[in-house]
Amino acid sequence: MTTFEYAPAPESVRPQIRERYGLFIDGAWTAAHADRTFTTIDPATENRLAEVAYASPEDVDRAVRAARKAYDKYWRKIKPADRAKYLYRIARAITERSRELAVLETLDGGKPIKESRDFDIPASAAHFFYHAGWADKLEWAVRAGRTPEPIGVCGQIVPWNFPLLMAAWKIAPALACGNTVVLKPAETTPLTALALAQIVQEADLPPGVVNVLTGDGATGAALVAHAGVDKLAFTGSTEVGKTIARTIAGSGKRLTLELGGKAAHIVFADAPLDQAVEGVVNGIYFNQGHVCCAGSRLLVEERVHDEIVARLTERIATLRLGDPLDKNTDIGAINSRAQLEKIEELVRSGIAEGATLVQAPCTLPGRGFFFPASLFVNVHQSHRIAREEIFGPVLSVLTFRTPDEAVEKANNTPYGLSAGVWTDKGSKNMWVAQRLRAGVVWCNTYNQFDPSSPFGGYRESGFGREGGVHGLYEYMAG
Ligand code: NAP
Ligand code: MG
Repeated sequence: MTTFEYAPAPESVRPQIRERYGLFIDGAWTAAHADRTFTTIDPATENRLAEVAYASPEDVDRAVRAARKAYDKYWRKIKPADRAKYLYRIARAITERSRELAVLETLDGGKPIKESRDFDIPASAAHFFYHAGWADKLEWAVRAGRTPEPIGVCGQIVPWNFPLLMAAWKIAPALACGNTVVLKPAETTPLTALALAQIVQEADLPPGVVNVLTGDGATGAALVAHAGVDKLAFTGSTEVGKTIARTIAGSGKRLTLELGGKAAHIVFADAPLDQAVEGVVNGIYFNQGHVCCAGSRLLVEERVHDEIVARLTERIATLRLGDPLDKNTDIGAINSRAQLEKIEELVRSGIAEGATLVQAPCTLPGRGFFFPASLFVNVHQSHRIAREEIFGPVLSVLTFRTPDEAVEKANNTPYGLSAGVWTDKGSKNMWVAQRLRAGVVWCNTYNQFDPSSPFGGYRESGFGREGGVHGLYEYMAG
């Protein structure tokens, strides 16, 4: 196949990054307890980006108190239509600053600029716009005759794969329903959460309604354990999700958990194979595979296995890996050295267990954390690469012969977050989708998101829904 050389097309905007960032507590920037800080880097170059305040339990306490005061004093009392105005203001500010935010997201986390520009930032604004619309209409979301009531102070802990989007996804419904928030972004990607704090400040939200605490897992654990928190919303690993559930058991705190996944992506022989291959590529290589709902287990009908693998092999050779700030880049940097090591370890286990690795031929940049688009064939259900979440650009290909077998293999996982089905037959699509034990099932498409559509899983993928009317219930009492 002919491939064209692309001229470099680097993004020219450079956002203002401060030397140091404080914590955003009670509407003001403040130094952390004992002035502790940590460094955030650009994973594509390993260059230092900024020094960020490290929140200790003392800071968590200050932030939770500020959120409580703001809840009692202003936020639960103001007219819902006024809450909506603040949310619209934040949504508009995100839109106005979208280019700067996209570059910041890409610099701090390594994802391709075309993804942060076309997906993360617009979707973040969309979550604020959507929930702004709900703020004064909540009585339509609850059962007739009931009054919508907020819960109180929400502790929200988000991961590094969609930093601003996960923050928006959690803050917008919480505020729309009248709650106040303490947000803890991931250690490797604090910068867009801090930019959002600046936006919150400029939007003139009453102090303490939104607080942002940068730090690491210990900061998150202190937030979880704080007695002043009424509700926790967590997105991240199943392991930490379980720890949180254990910690708060019996405390009366409300909890939603959005955890890992090992989604089955099922392709029948009658599917339009060109579209299916594009869907599979999008399903696993989007955001370097750092996606909880990534279609990481491809189940193909046996008689098209060789054809699909040939097409996938050809297609991944055309994915451009490199500088995340280049507008042509498809595969950016792995978020951190630790994540790269985790991917490499799982790939080694796949080879050791007897699967065959197919990798896109490409030169990795000399610095930064990169991993080529990869797929495994000759994979068995028992292999670790077929069972564990790799959270990287690595697809495991398995086969099936009948729809029953496809369903059985797809459901043979402790997770249940998402799945995909490709077939030309509408009835077969529905038959399979109804039998898949996953929170979201995409039919003849993949990775479609909208703020009005509930998202979440069950079993080891967590519980509770985010987005849509269902997501509002998680932020209302009763
Ligand atoms: P993680 O440890 O679960 O991190 C998620 C968030 O929880 C981060 O803000 C993290 O802070 C915080 N955290 C860590 N330990 C905590 C604790 N004991 N109590 C409260 N909060 C805590 O996930 P990770 O280490 O970034 O990634 C590990 C694996 O999780 C990945 O390889 C992937 O399989 C999975 N993952 C899933 C999702 C998802 O969307 N479902 C997202 C990310 C990762 P720090 O980051 O500052 O430590
Ligand atoms: Mg970083």
